[in-house]
Amino acid sequence: MRLSQVVRPGPGQFLCEPGALKYLDQKVASFTHPVIITGEKSYEAFQKYYTGSLNLPVYRYDGTASHEDMERLSSLVEGTDCIVGIGGGRVLDTAKGTAELLQVEYVTIPTVLGTCAAYTPLSAVYHPDHTFKVVDYYEKAALLCLMDLDLLVESPKKYFMGGIGDTLAKWYEAEGITRHVDGQLPAMVKVGLQTAKVTQQILLEDSKDALDSMDRRVVSPAFQRVAEAVVAIAGTVGGFAGEYGRMAGAHAVHNGMSLVPETHPFEHGVKVAYGVLVQLWASGDEEEVHRLLPFFEENQFPHRLEDFGVKENKREKAEKIAAFAASDSETFKLAVPEVTARNVYDAMNAVESLSGKNAVGIQG
Ligand SMILES: [Zn+2]
Repeated sequence: MRLSQVVRPGPGQFLCEPGALKYLDQKVASFTHPVIITGEKSYEAFQKYYTGSLNLPVYRYDGTASHEDMERLSSLVEGTDCIVGIGGGRVLDTAKGTAELLQVEYVTIPTVLGTCAAYTPLSAVYHPDHTFKVVDYYEKAALLCLMDLDLLVESPKKYFMGGIGDTLAKWYEAEGITRHVDGQLPAMVKVGLQTAKVTQQILLEDSKDALDSMDRRVVSPAFQRVAEAVVAIAGTVGGFAGEYGRMAGAHAVHNGMSLVPETHPFEHGVKVAYGVLVQLWASGDEEEVHRLLPFFEENQFPHRLEDFGVKENKREKAEKIAAFAASDSETFKLAVPEVTARNVYDAMNAVESLSGKNAVGIQG
C-alpha cells in the first residue's frame, strides 16, 4: 500500500504556545549530534526568540526544496541523529526529505503560517529550476512540531492570509468530494471530515480577530486557534481523510489562474479561497457563497478578478481559467463530476456580480 493512502495521525509531539522555543533544549537533549537546516530570514526570526543554550551546526537550504538539495545536505550533515528544520514550507520540506534520506528523527519549527508543512510527513518537491516535480511521502513523522506563537505573531501577514485561504478550502473540497461517494465512508475518513469541519468553524469565527492580533503583534486566543488550524488541524485532515481530503474545485480554479500572469503575485491560498466561492457556486451552493462573502470582505480576501489585478480582457482570461479548471486533468470534477468550462465560467461570472456595489459580472 502506498504511504499516501496510510492514516497519518501527526507528529509524535505537538507544542504550541508563546515562548515555546524554550522547550527545544530539553527535547533534543537525548541526541548526540543534532543539526539545524534553515534559511536566511527564518533563522534570523528563530534567533530573535530562542534563548536556550544550544549551539548547533547550522546548514542553509538553497531555496529550491529539490531532491538535489536534500542529497547535498544529507552528505553535509552525515552523522547527525536529529535534524531541526526551522523555516517556511520549502525549508521544512527540505529538512524532512534530508531526514528521510538519512533515516533520522526530525523536529519542525515553522517561522511562517502559510502551510501545514510543519505537521505533515510529506514534501512538495521542486526541480532546481523551481518547477514542480512530485509530492514525496515519508515513513517517519516529525518527532516534534514546535510552534512559538511569539515568533509567529510577528511573521509576515501575507503568508497567514494564504494559510487561512488554503485551510478554508479543506472543508469545502473534502465535503465536495465526499458528497458523491456512495455508501459508508471509512471511520478514519469520517474523523478527517469532522476535523475539516473544525477548521471551517475556527476560520469563520476567529480569522478577523487573529489577523487583528497579528497587526497588533499580540498573541490572542483567536490567533492561537487559527494558527493551530492552519498548521496542525489542516495537517490532520489530510492525515485522516487521505484521498477524500484532497484538492478539488478550489485548487483547480487556482491552477487555472496560474495561466493569467496578473494573479502571480498573490499567495497560493488567497487564490484557492477565491476558488472556494467558484466551486460552491458551480455545485449549486449559492447560499453558502452568500454566507462566505462577509468573511471575504471583512478579512480583505480578493473575490473578484479585478481584485487580482485582472483589468483587461477579463472575459477572455476568465474563459481560460474556467476551461483549464474544468479539464479532465484537473480536480474540479471531483467536486462537480459533470462540470463543464461553461459552468465554471458562469460560476465565476455569478460570483463577480455578487460582490461590490457596482459589480455587473465579468465584462470586457
Ligand atoms: Zn493549497
